[in-house]
Amino acid sequence: MSKTWCERINPVVRDMPPSGIRRFFDMVAETKGVISLGVGEPDFVTPWHIREACIYSLEKGYTMYTSNSGLLELRYAIARDLADTYGVFYDPRSEILVTVGVSQALDLALRALVCPGDEVLIPEPSYVSYAPTVILAGGKVVPLPTGMEQGFCLSAHQVEAAITPRTKLLLLCYPNNPTGAVLDRKTLLEIAEVAAAHDLIVISDEIYDRLTYVGQHTCVASLPGMKERTVLLNGFSKSYAMTGWRVGYACGHGDFIAAMTKIHQYTMLCAPITAQMAALEALKNGRSGMERMVREYNRRRNVVLHAFRDMGLPCFEPKGAFYAFPEIRVTGLTSEEFAETLLQEEKVAVVPGNAFGPSGEGFVRCSYAASLEDLGEALRRMARLVRRRGVR
Ligand code: PLP
Repeated sequence: MSKTWCERINPVVRDMPPSGIRRFFDMVAETKGVISLGVGEPDFVTPWHIREACIYSLEKGYTMYTSNSGLLELRYAIARDLADTYGVFYDPRSEILVTVGVSQALDLALRALVCPGDEVLIPEPSYVSYAPTVILAGGKVVPLPTGMEQGFCLSAHQVEAAITPRTKLLLLCYPNNPTGAVLDRKTLLEIAEVAAAHDLIVISDEIYDRLTYVGQHTCVASLPGMKERTVLLNGFSKSYAMTGWRVGYACGHGDFIAAMTKIHQYTMLCAPITAQMAALEALKNGRSGMERMVREYNRRRNVVLHAFRDMGLPCFEPKGAFYAFPEIRVTGLTSEEFAETLLQEEKVAVVPGNAFGPSGEGFVRCSYAASLEDLGEALRRMARLVRRRGVR
């Protein structure tokens, strides 16, 4: 008797629930006339000069594999950018790996680091891919719940209290998806001290670093003594509106980058050459376009924040990324009920907070990577629902 496919599938994969966000997007796709504040991607098209660089590279015949590590010129540009912005220096020949987005960089870093049963500390609410990627790598997720009362910011004390002999690494994401929280330098220094005291590795996903509106982003690897124990992940998806191009990178100790590259060369070979050429153009000439987009996100951030507070929904001020995370408990609905009711009754899509872990319950994630016109209309519709629920 042959086995069914379900019996054949690796139980780790079979038993993994599908992403809460995907389930919701499927519902959105089936509903007409929806304004979506659900997706986590820029509403801008990649600036023209970046697209043009890609077209030009094709004209010149750049259609082959690159080095497994990525185009050397791109790695040099990444190193220069990090040195100029954060004063942190990586050797482009041994300490930088170009990947297919931060998504692949994270997968490679975890697979290269995590041994079966190793514990990975993850502040929660957290980006939906983190826990599954850790589990697929054979690790155990240890969530560190954060709440609105602490501004969704992790504390060094929380990290310290969660450490066991199996704790191997801490996965940070600031500016944060889904809350928009940013960790200040002092808190990061305290966390760095705990990491050093317990010999933890820090994977720092800084994909939203340039989208920081209040204060300044602190690159974890730039803190004293942290470059040695940090794997820095970043990419082009958010800052340069390049989600579909699929380019990111990892920076870290040469021995570790070599280990990641080993997996990468067997499983992916390299990131697409045309996308790497476009990323190079983004680093060379993309700063002013990026700054324009950041100014626009900031304008929308203010609109959204005030609208939630006017509706009577408590909302912590998001300081980075392009998400607001209002609390919806006053409506008497759970996160999922609120998101489903809003979709069905008002045709507005947001993501229920529990998609980001249990500590996201009571909140919804609203992306303000949408035009001011769409945002205004979506907020009016949301206010209608909130009023119907008896708030204000
Ligand atoms: N990390 C975070 C925190 C994200 O929010 C996302 C996408 O939403 C990613 C990584 C994926 O990045 P990339 O497009 O570079 O794979």
